[in-house]
Amino acid sequence: MTMQFHTSSAEETRNLGKLLGEVLSAGDIVLLFGDLGAGKTTLVQGIAAGLGVSQDEYVRSPTFTLVNQYQGRVPVHHIDLYRIESASDMASIGLEDELDGGGAVLVEWAEKLFHKETGAITADYNLDQRIEIRLNILGDDTRSINITAVNLDKTHHGVFSLQ
Ligand code: ADP
Ligand code: MG
Repeated sequence: MTMQFHTSSAEETRNLGKLLGEVLSAGDIVLLFGDLGAGKTTLVQGIAAGLGVSQDEYVRSPTFTLVNQYQGRVPVHHIDLYRIESASDMASIGLEDELDGGGAVLVEWAEKLFHKETGAITADYNLDQRIEIRLNILGDDTRSINITAVNLDKTHHGVFSLQ
């Protein structure tokens, strides 16, 4: 099931992220897809705020560290796969530990988790239940943001309240 949104500013994207963050809990996995500048990090800033991460914490792409961790209502693991090239690189992130750690996991450049030709998930981790977000650049300040709940229980997960 996909919910479609349009935003006209970074602020609007942060606000949408905040609404989403408010309904996330431990164990939730959010995969973000979209080109450079699409607004993945901007959305993550809002999601982190909604998860209760203090506004004092500077939420930015963990491009060099691969994983940033923030303390919100639950631990928040912010991963950026941009620089990931191989399966062994992927293993070095310890995504498995992040997922077992009971936090919420937010992954930028989630394209890298999927096999280019087959579309199969390349991670060994259990990503069956997840939220996929596709961001597209429509214009300088406009973005389409599509949120898809994959294998989540409609009666139990708050993400469906966003529609
Ligand atoms: P990504 O992480 O996908 O590379 P960023 O969030 O870092 O993207 O950057 C998005 C850029 O686009 C920022 O400079 C932001 O201010 C700008 N921007 C303009 N309009 C929007 C919008 N509607 N939503 C998100 N970002 C926007
Ligand atoms: Mg980014």
